[in-house]
Amino acid sequence: MSPAAARAAAFASARRSARQALASSRRASAAARPASSASSPVARATAEDALERIRVEYAPLPAVVDPEAAMRADAPLLYPALGTNVVWHDTLTYGDVDGALARADGVLRERFTIQRYASTPLETFGAIAEYDAGTDAFEFWTNDQRPGLTISILAASLGVPQSRIRLHCPDIGGAFGNKRRPAYLLVCALLARAAAWTGGIANQNRGTLGGNIVNASPAADSLPALLAYEAELVLVSVRGERRVPYKDFHTGYKKTKLAPDELIRTVCLARRFSGYVAYARKVGARSAQAISKVCIAALGRRTGGGVEDVRIALGSVAPVPLRLAETERLVTGKPIDPFLLALARKTAIAEIQPIDDIRSTSRYRATVVGNLIAEFLEKLRADEYHP
Ligand SMILES: Cc1cc2nc3c(=O)[nH]c(=O)nc-3n(C[C@H](O)[C@H](O)[C@H](O)COP(=O)(O)OP(=O)(O)OC[C@H]3O[C@@H](n4cnc5c(N)ncnc54)[C@H](O)[C@@H]3O)c2cc1C
Repeated sequence: MSPAAARAAAFASARRSARQALASSRRASAAARPASSASSPVARATAEDALERIRVEYAPLPAVVDPEAAMRADAPLLYPALGTNVVWHDTLTYGDVDGALARADGVLRERFTIQRYASTPLETFGAIAEYDAGTDAFEFWTNDQRPGLTISILAASLGVPQSRIRLHCPDIGGAFGNKRRPAYLLVCALLARAAAWTGGIANQNRGTLGGNIVNASPAADSLPALLAYEAELVLVSVRGERRVPYKDFHTGYKKTKLAPDELIRTVCLARRFSGYVAYARKVGARSAQAISKVCIAALGRRTGGGVEDVRIALGSVAPVPLRLAETERLVTGKPIDPFLLALARKTAIAEIQPIDDIRSTSRYRATVVGNLIAEFLEKLRADEYHP
């Protein structure tokens, strides 16, 4: 192709992309995207020359800048796919308001408007959780700024009554910005619960998460939670450091990606699980000082009609801790009904490779896996918590 022809081809391709981008941007309101990308197999400089000649014409859309106008039925929609501009509407009523007003000596009627604000805390956020297997209770230490609501979110997400949650909020300094992170507390809670199942008190006082990972037992209790939260490991050696997604770390029975001179320095967990239902269980001969016959950690988020971003991870059912990709795919977006529960059980059992050993039989493990999947999905369906 001659340079002139290449330039013309690049220009035509870029213009086509720009036209497509413009067509979709007509409905895109404020969310304008980069207008084009030239994809012809031509030199970069040629494509950049072509790009400079693109002129994008934006058709102005009706603007909606006032919250009350935005709530009217005929208001232009910011995100048409949502069908409304209202993200959240609630009425919070406490006590006998009408009675109190009727009995009051005087009543002041006023309308209050609060300015728009976005809060960014100056201070760091911290959380420590401890789980007591004897009472099935969780104790948290945190600088969470909204403990009353946080307790109800934690109780609903962990499936325990609020009386089983103890939240210590020590002096948190100034309230510069929002320190409200139930999702972090849930991550702590899942790991604390898994840690409470690991060995006995002596192991728990000395054992570490790094040791549990590198020990590489397929029955290790903390590993399903790492899979569900898509943890990343930071490995360090004299050669420097590298990051490995935890899901790739165990390559086979008792095999890992760790080089002989490497250590796990950090276990990183993503920070985006607010509003998720978290579920973890260990099934063993007893709840501690017994290796798991099956252990599970699962997460999921409810949507209007079904569930999304479901993550189900199991231990002791394969040579390595396992995520049930097929079962997750099956349940995503669907309403949880008896038919789906039956199908999810069947799919989960088909995904695992349990064995007969001194602790259990493959048949028992498969049955338990089916039951745990059903229990998790029931919990997801019953959960009333909305972020
Ligand atoms: C009686 C008993 C009961 C147990 N019960 C359970 C149980 O119920 N559930 C369960 O999951 N586990 C159980 N375990 C296994 C064990 O307690 C856990 O795996 C524990 O987390 C190990 O941690 P550790 O720090 O003691 O590791 P160690 O035993 O000291 O180390 C294990 C391996 O990991 C390596 N290692 C440790 N830390 C790092 C690091 N940061 N980077 C690289 N390599 C590292 C060590 O060199 C070693 O090869 C039990 C063990 C015992 C002895």
